Amino acid sequence: MELVVLHAPPWQAWVVDSGTAPYALSALYPDEPRPPGPEPTLPLPHQLLVATSGDHLVLVDTGLPGSPPPVVAALRRLGRTPSEVTAVVLTHLHPDHLGGLLPGDDGGPPALPDVPVLLSDREWAWATDDDALERHRGRVADAVRAVRPLIADRVELLPDDATPYAGLRTRLAPGHTPGHLVVDLGEPPVVRYVADLVAERRQLSEPALRSGFDADDHEARLTGERVLDETAALGLRLVGAHLPPPPSSTRSVSPGHP
Ligand SMILES: [Zn+2]
Repeated sequence: MELVVLHAPPWQAWVVDSGTAPYALSALYPDEPRPPGPEPTLPLPHQLLVATSGDHLVLVDTGLPGSPPPVVAALRRLGRTPSEVTAVVLTHLHPDHLGGLLPGDDGGPPALPDVPVLLSDREWAWATDDDALERHRGRVADAVRAVRPLIADRVELLPDDATPYAGLRTRLAPGHTPGHLVVDLGEPPVVRYVADLVAERRQLSEPALRSGFDADDHEARLTGERVLDETAALGLRLVGAHLPPPPSSTRSVSPGHP
């Protein structure tokens, strides 16, 4: 399958799928009436961004867990290896986004054992509060507890609006998780990676429709409407972790040389 490349000077980014899996419609949209007959499912990709600018090779999310973690194969498709990754920006601490930071199911080493991990200070505060973790909807606590000790000494906590690298801006977009981030690439911004704020394509036209994986429906709805409106107003190319990838942009630029 052709890789999607997005030009967002001074960044160039590839949208890479770490694996497609079926989701029961009743899990995705629990408030929707369920049609009679067998439970319908929707196949969803689990994408991440591989972004380069100058000497930086930044992963935005790390895909599904596995043995070896699928992020290894994702990087290989670009002719890259995990040892070349200079940092990970994690949009949120759900298992399908932090897989590359976990050991393989067979106990094999994590793909990314020592790179800095940038995430929201609010997400980390939630992740390190065992009571809050247990209250979170869905089965995420085990994966968060597993990853915490592996990244605790290399997390770099981001405030609500941060620009950790020139042309890479992160902003708090809470609701799916308490510290969920969206990431803008480009200077000025060209691409907006919304991760799971829009978890399935119907939410693009119906942002009030929230998924069963959101921690806080009300907050996710407000954030979704605000961010989608702003994305449209700014004319940004929207990329989601579980949405069909956009077409590659055709404008050709060399990484680091806009
Ligand atoms: Zn996800």
